[in-house]
Amino acid sequence: MLDFDTAQARLAAAGGHPSIAETCPLIQARGRVLAQTLFAALDLPPADNSAMDGYAIRHADYVAGKSLPVQQRCYAGVKPEALLPDNTIRLFTGSLLPEGADTVVMQEDVDESDNTLLIHRVPKQGAHIRYRGEDIRTGEQLFAKGTLLGAAQIAMLASQGYAEISVYPALKVGILTTGDELVSPGQPRSDEHIYNSNGSMLAALVENMGANAVHVLHALDTEASLQSALSTLLQDCDLVLTVGGVSVGEKDLVKPAIEQFGGTLDLWRVCMKPGKPVALAHAANKPVVCLPGNPVSAFAVFTMLVSPLLRSMQGRAQIMPPLQYGQLATQKEFNDSREEFLRVKAQTNTKGLTQLTPYPQQGSGIISSLSWASGLARIPANTSVKNGDIVPYYDFQHWLA
Ligand code: AMP
Ligand code: MG
Repeated sequence: MLDFDTAQARLAAAGGHPSIAETCPLIQARGRVLAQTLFAALDLPPADNSAMDGYAIRHADYVAGKSLPVQQRCYAGVKPEALLPDNTIRLFTGSLLPEGADTVVMQEDVDESDNTLLIHRVPKQGAHIRYRGEDIRTGEQLFAKGTLLGAAQIAMLASQGYAEISVYPALKVGILTTGDELVSPGQPRSDEHIYNSNGSMLAALVENMGANAVHVLHALDTEASLQSALSTLLQDCDLVLTVGGVSVGEKDLVKPAIEQFGGTLDLWRVCMKPGKPVALAHAANKPVVCLPGNPVSAFAVFTMLVSPLLRSMQGRAQIMPPLQYGQLATQKEFNDSREEFLRVKAQTNTKGLTQLTPYPQQGSGIISSLSWASGLARIPANTSVKNGDIVPYYDFQHWLA
């Protein structure tokens, strides 16, 4: 038996780092991984500007009760004149601050009529100005190589004028489901058949992480069928995931089929529930990970063991997502020789504590537990764990992103 942390670390290190980069329009960059560290090309904001709709003044010109002529109405996108002594310039949010001005008075604190301004309440000198470079300075590092790009990163890069960026190619993942009992959704089904849920599930998990599920193939439990599918996957993909057919049953033929491609397969009885067995092989220089067939086990193993490998092969800097903690809310007591990963729903109670409620049925065939749960709670092996104990929590939102 291999302990969970060792299995996770070994799998995370089992793939290569991307070796080439490609150019991607920024508008299509969501879910891509930066292949280059990027630096600020300009100060942000690029010039002092108004944070409010209001009036630019020179603070020293202010005398209570005195009116100031409005010298210019300067809209956002218009170049301001230099502010004359004892004058004011009308500004709007984002208007550039005129030379000579040092303060913006909010429009709520003034009256303007006949192009003259009466200020009722003067703010502190320097108020309501967004200063050049207060957000970002030219030359500052924006994002390191390996950063996953989401809306926030794309906003920053757009504000810096980047129209195209260098990213790693999307990782190509091949999925192989196995089993004579499986039929595809949409096909006629007899009593002895079940629908194949792992194929579409794994494709969705892979695509959710920004990789491409380029093939989702199914093989019967024969060496010939497995070999033909594996040959396509090894040719077209960077990483192959097989599911089912790796235990020690008579129809568990995935291992010999992979060995036909020169791969040596490490079969691990990973000490986790649900989960074992998991296997790793390298065939045609590509990692092949064999997942257990039960959909819940396959989902849990993908979350905990495959997703770090996928991130590392995508070139991401952060391979292990953050681990959280929560308080177990359960009637049951645990003390098992295998670590257990419970499907739980996390909820915040009135004291602000995260409470983890397990789904009532924790069997590895219970597919309904997956859509109900928000993540997995980790129950350590050989330890008594009960209601109220704090345990590690793997949030699907982080672990499957
Ligand atoms: P195996 O490891 O092939 O013995 O599969 C273990 C269990 O998972 C069996 O009950 C299979 O019917 C089920 N299973 C395997 N693959 C799939 C799949 N793609 N979709 C749904 N159930 C599956
Ligand atoms: Mg099978």
